[in-house]
Order: sequence, then C-alpha cells, then structure tokens
Amino acid sequence: MNRLISLKKIFKSFSNNKKLIVLKNINYSFAKGKIYSLVGPSGSGKSTFLNILSMIDKPTSGSLLINDTLIDFNNNNENDKVRANKIGIIYQQNNLLPDFTALENVYLAGLALSGDKDNSIKKAKKIIKEMGLSLREHHYPSELSGGEAQRIAIARAIINEPEVILADEPTGSLDRNTAKEVFKVLYKLKNKSRLIIYATHNRFFANMADCKLEMIDGNIKTINARNK
Ligand code: ADP
Ligand code: MG
Repeated sequence: MNRLISLKKIFKSFSNNKKLIVLKNINYSFAKGKIYSLVGPSGSGKSTFLNILSMIDKPTSGSLLINDTLIDFNNNNENDKVRANKIGIIYQQNNLLPDFTALENVYLAGLALSGDKDNSIKKAKKIIKEMGLSLREHHYPSELSGGEAQRIAIARAIINEPEVILADEPTGSLDRNTAKEVFKVLYKLKNKSRLIIYATHNRFFANMADCKLEMIDGNIKTINARNK
C-alpha cells in the first residue's frame, strides 16, 4: 500500500468534569492518490481526528506516522514545519484574514514558507486564476461570496503544494450549488502523490470519495472503498 499517513492505537480523551473518550484505538492507514470522506454525527470526533492528523492536537496515546516518520507530538517546532510543508487545511469557516485581500491571503501563505515574495505572488495569481477568481484578487474577504471565499481558502491551503489536504466540513456553511462548486475545485486537486481527506455531513458529497469512512463509537469504519 502506498501509505502516506498511518495511525496506530490512537486514543484521545478530554477531561473536563467527566472523562470523555472520543477516539478509541484507531488503527488506519491512508494511501496517497486517494480521496477519503469522513462522516459521522456531530460530536462523534471527526474534527478531533483531523486535528490529530494535522498535529494541531495531540493524542492521549498512540502513534502517527507521516511518510513512515514517527511524529513526536512534543516537538512543536518540527511539527509546525511538517505542517507548513506538507499539509493544507481547510475549515468550515474560511478563516481568511479580514484585513488582507484575497491575493494577499493566498500569497502570504506562500511567502511564509519560501520567503520569496515575487514568486509567491506569481503562484498565488496562477492558482486564483485556476479557481476562476482573478477578478476578485483585490477584494477583501467581506466582499466575497461564501463560495468565493472558500475557494480562496482552498487556494491558500494549496499554494505550498501540500501532499495532504485536510478539509473539515468545508461546505458546511454553503448552499448546495455553491458547495458543489467548492467540491469540484477540491476534486481537481487530486493527484497520484496526494492524499485528500474531508469530513462532511452531506451524503452525496461523502459518496463521491474513493473511500468513505464513518466515525462510529470512537473508531473508524470503512463504509465503502471504490477502486478508482
Ligand atoms: P465532530 O467534529 O464529529 O462534530 P468533535 O471532534 O468536534 O466532533 O468533538 C468530539 C467530542 O469531543 C465532542 O463531544 C466534543 O464536545 C468533545 N471535545 C472536542 N474538543 C474538546 C475540547 N477541547 N475539550 C473538551 N471536549 C472536547
Ligand atoms: Mg467537527
């Protein structure tokens, strides 16, 4: 298997008043070149799971391997680098910086990694063009529609050409037609060396994936695996 991310015996619990075990002994490997959807009711642990994959949160126990390298969850500096280099993240709310234009939002993410402003601007313009949003380059997030803003958020997530794209209910706040457009853009990003995982509540979008996973009782079950 062409695995890119592997999880072994992952547990995650939160202890507020009462201990809540959200993820229970997850063992799973994600292959490159595939798109996975993740479904499950609200509160089932989808976001917790994605946050562990992106190393934003750490598991209570268990291990995560990216490209067969064991992640040390206590090494934040290294993990920030791995995340910046390899992982593009898209949230339900686009999280664009409100005081920066669409172009700035995208190119700053490139600049942060490469330090090359001219090249980052060039790349950002190219990606924004591919998204069909060249005319919106100089607009601020508040001047974009929900679908446009989410496409800019995708552009920002991919400027560093990540091997992994994680999207947590990326169209959760959009109407169906706009959501379709956003998924079209997301699916265009599929390539043989890339892994894409998205959480969604929408059955139709979930069924488009090569492999559909469901979060049940803190574990991941494969619902169907299409061979594409
Ligand atoms: P989903 O994304 O599937 O809706 P989440 O991963 O957001 O589910 O949440 C799973 C469970 O973990 C929920 O019961 C939620 O309340 C709880 N949870 C998530 N994050 C925290 C946290 N930081 N502290 C305490 N409980 C949390
Ligand atoms: Mg969630």
